[in-house]
Amino acid sequence: MSEPRVVVIGAGVAGISTAHVLQQNGFTDWVVLEKGSDVGGVWYWNHYPGLTCDVPSQIYQFAFAPKADWERVWATGPQIQQYHRDVVDRLGLRDRIRCDTEVLAAEFDDVSGTWTLTLNTGETMVADFVVCATGVLHNPSIPDIEGLADFDGDVVHTARWDDSLVTDGRRIAVIGTGSTGVQVVSALQPKAAHLTHFVRSPQWVLWAPMWLPQLGLVSEAFKRVPGLLDQTHRALLWASGILADVVTTPSWRRRAVQAYARLSLRAQVPEPLREGLRPDDEPLCKRQVVSGSYYRAVKARNASLVTEGISRVEPAGVRTADGALHEADLLVLATGFRAHDYMRPMRVTGRDGITLDAAWADGPRAYRMTAIPGLPNLFTVLGPNSPTGSISLQYSADLTAKYIAQWLDRFRRGEIDRVEVTEEATAEFNRQVAEAMGPTVWNTGCNSWYLTEGGGIDLWPFDRATMDRMLAAPDDADFHVRSTATRG
Ligand SMILES: Cc1cc2nc3c(=O)[nH]c(=O)nc-3n(C[C@H](O)[C@H](O)[C@H](O)COP(=O)(O)OP(=O)(O)OC[C@H]3O[C@@H](n4cnc5c(N)ncnc54)[C@H](O)[C@@H]3O)c2cc1C
Repeated sequence: MSEPRVVVIGAGVAGISTAHVLQQNGFTDWVVLEKGSDVGGVWYWNHYPGLTCDVPSQIYQFAFAPKADWERVWATGPQIQQYHRDVVDRLGLRDRIRCDTEVLAAEFDDVSGTWTLTLNTGETMVADFVVCATGVLHNPSIPDIEGLADFDGDVVHTARWDDSLVTDGRRIAVIGTGSTGVQVVSALQPKAAHLTHFVRSPQWVLWAPMWLPQLGLVSEAFKRVPGLLDQTHRALLWASGILADVVTTPSWRRRAVQAYARLSLRAQVPEPLREGLRPDDEPLCKRQVVSGSYYRAVKARNASLVTEGISRVEPAGVRTADGALHEADLLVLATGFRAHDYMRPMRVTGRDGITLDAAWADGPRAYRMTAIPGLPNLFTVLGPNSPTGSISLQYSADLTAKYIAQWLDRFRRGEIDRVEVTEEATAEFNRQVAEAMGPTVWNTGCNSWYLTEGGGIDLWPFDRATMDRMLAAPDDADFHVRSTATRG
């Protein structure tokens, strides 16, 4: 028996799932490194006003740590962040997680077959396996708008919100129309002196009563009725399977949800405002936005919608292409993330000096979300092609971590000491992804961060059963596996 030394990078959903699987499988030599000061990942980094989960809390939770008493059906960001903290403490994972510790570089040594990690603390750490749980939506995207640095007021990106910022009574300009833009507009509009939402590409917004509390009666039933919480989670997982089917397969179900999106707009917004909020693309083809208050917010008397393109930012506000100046004293950038900078800015160097930057020059590409050619003994959890927006991310993180644990177990039993996915298997998986994209709603001509610059696809176009099958057990034929017996 040779206990693998494992370093997990990141303590969000993916990192906590991995930690739990390592713990459950009796691995003893592992640590989670997290650059933030606390666990939770996106729920730690994002604390802008209005942050709310866009799927019901009963499914946005770990199956191994269900919570009976969510305060709301769609939990708020702070509630989810607290949940992650509680899970880590309850499961005894806290001592394994080192916060404020960023991995700056990871380098594979061909001779020893180990990874050396360079940390921001000045230390180095040697590992037999590295698990990257570093989050796709991590590096904020700052738009390249002329004059941004000259703005006289405050500028803030939603992913790095400054809690000391005063928002009430101010003239607020918001750029960005994804889930975050919609949430922050809804939250800030009621008390703003004026709120201007710049909407270059409007998105379909499904109406849902996201403020609904989870009734005390329901929480009590979850606590008292044996199996009810678990059964509810399973039922919701099954229901999310239908959602996956809606996006991946054209059917009456897809048309029904799309009709609902169109109705959500038509029923709530009169013309001419409706015209500015109607997207050109099909509902569901981008990460779906869900809100019960956005349309009310943009219709309010203290709000305006600007569909004209932004030409520059000036000290007093935002100048649009038609020459108008929209005065503001707080500029909110809800402009999302550089999703394809996954794992970066960490410098990753694998076998034969292959760098991740070179391997991914055309965008992230992996085998079944978890293995990358050229990077032996390194896996990703919620990596490229993770099912953002369809299948539960907690489910896929857990499944992937269990898959990785099978490799670690073979190392522990002394059967293998090195494993690297082949180029051929990775190309074949990506060919299958491209083929499966055909009938999906993402392939209806809209431009989204789901598509990579090199023409690749960064999501999961299959159903959950396919994910279960692909990650059930490692297939040696897809890997260069070096067994300890044959080591030269
Ligand atoms: C604002 C926002 C709202 C969202 N809302 C929803 C939602 O409602 N429903 C939904 O299904 N999904 C939502 N998502 C998607 C979300 O990304 C996933 O649900 C999930 O939280 C991702 O978990 P993760 O562990 O993969 O990544 P993350 O949560 O991003 O965690 C990665 C962690 O790795 C750390 N890290 C990165 N690099 C390093 C390094 N070099 N060294 C050390 N640590 C490092 C980061 O600090 C981070 O804490 C949302 C995302 C955002 C940004």
